[in-house]
Amino acid sequence: MTQMNVESFNLDHTKVKAPYIRLVGVTEGDKGDKIYKYDIRVKQPNQEHMDMPALHSLEHLMAENSRNHHDRIIDIGPMGCQTGFYLAVLNDDSYENILQVVENTLKDVLEAKEVPACNEVQCGFAASHSLEGAQELARELLNKRDEWTEVF
Ligand SMILES: [Zn+2]
Repeated sequence: MTQMNVESFNLDHTKVKAPYIRLVGVTEGDKGDKIYKYDIRVKQPNQEHMDMPALHSLEHLMAENSRNHHDRIIDIGPMGCQTGFYLAVLNDDSYENILQVVENTLKDVLEAKEVPACNEVQCGFAASHSLEGAQELARELLNKRDEWTEVF
């Protein structure tokens, strides 16, 4: 395969085994600050995907709750292929810590009574949400917690 600019375009998606959490890369700024980007893969590529309302609600829930467990989360955003999320975090080189943050965040999702900010003022597609769907995804991920470190 030709080398691509985007790291994940160089990843053989037929070889990975979801679910997993993988460090994609580290970007260092001029002052030495470092952004760590992770691939949180929920579904097996090209075999399964998350339904949009469930994915969307899980995004809202993780975006809001993860910041209670880490004060340097930059972003959590869904992949367009609907099989996972990207997580970016500043100046934390501990993979184990990130695993713990994700675990704690998903436990929050299971206990949530509503999806944060799922209204037309705070969200761009407020009609497309599913708390139950997000909780099912969180449960699936937590049930396979011991597999997260195995990418291939
Ligand atoms: Zn939204």
